[in-house]
Amino acid sequence: MRRHRNVKIVATLGPASDSYDMIRALHEAGADVFRLNMSHGSHDEIRERHAMIRKVERDLDSPIAILADLQGPKLRVGEFAKGEEELAEGARFRLDLDRSPGDGRRVCLPHPEIFAALEPGARLLVNDGKIRLTVDSCGKDFAECTVAVGGTISNRKGVNVPDVVLPLAALSEKDRADLEFVCQLGVDWLALSFVQRPDDVQEARALAQGRAAILSKIEKPAAVKAFDDILRVSDGVMVARGDLGVELPVQNVPPIQKQLVRKCRAAAKPVIVATQMLESMIESPMPTRAEVSDVATAIYEGADAIMLSAESAAGDYPVEAVTTMDNVAVEVESDPTYVEVIEASRRADRHSVADGIVAAAREIAETTNIKAICCYTESGTTAALTARERPRVPIIGMTSVRDTARRLALTWGVDCVMTGELSRFKMAVVNAARAARAQGYATAEDQILVIAGVPFNVPGTTNILRVAPCAEHLIFAADPE
Ligand code: PGA
Ligand code: MN
Repeated sequence: MRRHRNVKIVATLGPASDSYDMIRALHEAGADVFRLNMSHGSHDEIRERHAMIRKVERDLDSPIAILADLQGPKLRVGEFAKGEEELAEGARFRLDLDRSPGDGRRVCLPHPEIFAALEPGARLLVNDGKIRLTVDSCGKDFAECTVAVGGTISNRKGVNVPDVVLPLAALSEKDRADLEFVCQLGVDWLALSFVQRPDDVQEARALAQGRAAILSKIEKPAAVKAFDDILRVSDGVMVARGDLGVELPVQNVPPIQKQLVRKCRAAAKPVIVATQMLESMIESPMPTRAEVSDVATAIYEGADAIMLSAESAAGDYPVEAVTTMDNVAVEVESDPTYVEVIEASRRADRHSVADGIVAAAREIAETTNIKAICCYTESGTTAALTARERPRVPIIGMTSVRDTARRLALTWGVDCVMTGELSRFKMAVVNAARAARAQGYATAEDQILVIAGVPFNVPGTTNILRVAPCAEHLIFAADPE
């Protein structure tokens, strides 16, 4: 579906967005990617949501990416006899492997690996960091802690351990089962939670076997440290500010966001800025000024996508939240300062013919009155490289591969159109001109740029950059082949 902005919008589905009509309304309002959160919802619910998204895609003839977000090694305490307990600052509290219900002095933390890795002085953050425990002493099946910041602890609350690289498998039994389930359903992106090292990504890639692209969620200090290596083996990244802001002081999050977005842009890999972007819209039809500013900041940084979590999954105003993001994006991207900022922050190592061609395409588009850059792309790489240039004109991704069109729904500025298999370059130009006219980017009087590789259907052959007219008789006159 044609958008009037370059940044993409990811909307998480949940109880508030659990119908065909709602998913369709969200897509029409601007959601380009739907996120299925495997931490919530049964396989049956996930299957139904998946089927509804694909039906919207068919009915509107508009490629949509589905991102399945695996829960990952999220630690949780066990249950309490009374459901919850009040922990006072300065009190002692014990975590152990005893499965019996907890009380005000202890509770189960059913992860033996954690006790092996803990050290005195390590911090345990419970319930999004609202409660803070400091380890005084520990053994292979317990940790004695002091309550540094008190509060109410209740059944199955999450626990973050920022100070140690945990000897946890990247994928739990549940994650492996979920991964296989969603790969069989057919998803475009797999998001990995709590990635700590490049090996975690490789492990998921081996299981996915090319059925989905792999996106690493950066939400642990260890992942920030090893980011360059993690990026190298990932297809995309999420700046997962929720857990990141628990594991690190919150004031560290904005600079990390900026660094990560820059590195992903330079690597031509899509990056999502996520969590609490329009948090108040869970309950209110109007965002706060600070939230609007946060969304705008991510767009000025050149992020590929911005994300809604509970706002679209469990809030009262899912469509309004998407519309708000869309409105902010349109406004920011039409600001002359945006163009300046994006151009000043462009960074690319250029080595290949394709790198040179996409840079030249941007230059030509900016020098003359070109209406769109149409790039033929089978694997999606050429479109991603074109997007890395952040050109001022629309990018049309021309592909015969449905999975490529879907994955590119996450990439900045790329609007994909399905093409048939091509054998002659002239038909590539004709199809590109038709797509540009049909999508309303150009008229018969306009000119477009076509990027392609000949021979067709051989990846890595990008070798043609053509300035072409949009009128068919002119194409046929100019291109005898
Ligand atoms: P989550 O990930 O919503 O799955 O926790 C995003 C984040 O932590 O920001
Ligand atoms: Mn998270």
